[in-house]
Amino acid sequence: MKFGGTSVGNADRIAQAAALAIKSAQAGHQVVVVTSAMSGVTNKLIAAAQNAVAGQYHKQVSDELYEPHRQALHQLTPNEAARRREALDTLRQHIEEFDTLCKGLTMVRELTPRTLDKISGLGEMLCAPILSAAIAERGVVSQSIEATQLIVTDDQFGQAEPLMDETREQTRAKLLPLLAAGEIPVVTGFIAATKEGVQTTLGRGGSDYTASIIGAALDADEVWIWTDVNGVMTANPNEVPEARTMREISYSEASELAYYGAKVLHHKTILPAFKQNIPVLILNSFQPPDSSIDSGTRVTVKGHPSSRGVKAVTSIRQVSLISISGKGMQGIPGIAAKAFAAVAHERASILMISQASSENNICFVVIQAEAPRVVKALRAALEFDLLQNHIEEIACDDSIAIVAAVGDRMQGSPGIAGKVFAALGTANVNVIAISQGSSERNISFIVHEEQAADAVRAIHSAFELHLPTSD
Ligand code: ASP
Ligand code: MG
Repeated sequence: MKFGGTSVGNADRIAQAAALAIKSAQAGHQVVVVTSAMSGVTNKLIAAAQNAVAGQYHKQVSDELYEPHRQALHQLTPNEAARRREALDTLRQHIEEFDTLCKGLTMVRELTPRTLDKISGLGEMLCAPILSAAIAERGVVSQSIEATQLIVTDDQFGQAEPLMDETREQTRAKLLPLLAAGEIPVVTGFIAATKEGVQTTLGRGGSDYTASIIGAALDADEVWIWTDVNGVMTANPNEVPEARTMREISYSEASELAYYGAKVLHHKTILPAFKQNIPVLILNSFQPPDSSIDSGTRVTVKGHPSSRGVKAVTSIRQVSLISISGKGMQGIPGIAAKAFAAVAHERASILMISQASSENNICFVVIQAEAPRVVKALRAALEFDLLQNHIEEIACDDSIAIVAAVGDRMQGSPGIAGKVFAALGTANVNVIAISQGSSERNISFIVHEEQAADAVRAIHSAFELHLPTSD
């Protein structure tokens, strides 16, 4: 069970999280809890580190960080004084470490990804002892465990990847005996460590990844992600008020959707669970399942294919369309290779690619923040082709959005693309570029940003996604 930042956002939320974990344990399950930092804490830690390198750090910053944690702990452990003292010690140690690190930064004036990981991961280390104490307060034995002891990663600081064999070994050795003894271990999300024991993080929002990695390592029956929304919806309810929670989707649908901006699960997150066929449930901790019928999404191998073809529609903004064009590109091999190598070298990921067979334009979409870097790298990498006039222009358009219609049953069903684009035509939405992967699970296209919401609504209504599916 993983609890996101808002699900442990204050003492009341932490109490609820503890109650949910205990309820499952009492129903006969062995439960491992993975926790995020309290909401907003990771951002604060990162901001503090950045200010510190700029020479701005005061002890007050660490007091402000400590206080909400101390208060939550007090509120949650009225009876367990020994346990409270123990947790308080851990909190103090981590706050001291934070203070020392920030002071160090004000002197060295350099923030390496490695040091940033040390600081940004502290939020989870502050939260886990509190949640664990809250569970103990309710009479179930629990200890908090720093995932640096469980998850082994490479040394890509800020975005580390797990080494599953080592992780499996350590996780099982540490957690299985606790589970066998009926305890509920509370593990810090987001953080891990290299083979040498240097702390890393799994990337922003990485606690879901932690849950999936630990679930896989333990051969768990299910991974439950407690969050603040009712699962994965057919569209963003801000864009489409009649959007609905999907009861079941497949791993591939989930990753297509995550990729395209449905913020519920990061696409990488489900891989470890997927590789072992472990269902992932997305649940609302503000509205546990028995209190609402329309809540929770199950991500499974088969999903629940809908005969409508399209199951969900989503948009992604803050992206840029980069086009490389020129009549001279036709028949010149290697331009795409050079271009994509340059993008890869910048470590920017490409969200969508399209090239028509006339070959005089290659266009692709990257995250807006990365676009200036990418364009610069492309101009350098393609300098020769620009000089030779193979390429006339490398352009960047920030005012676009990607819209994607997703569904497993689109595969092999004729007429879906026709219906999608007919709906867009009727809604007067102009399509700038189109792409469909050969997996046929996703039709993506680019529109002007201000037409994105109209595009999403048009498709949602054309496929009647507001109605529950019966099949
Ligand atoms: N606390 C980390 C973050 O905010 C990880 C997480 O919440 O999943 O990115
Ligand atoms: Mg978070």
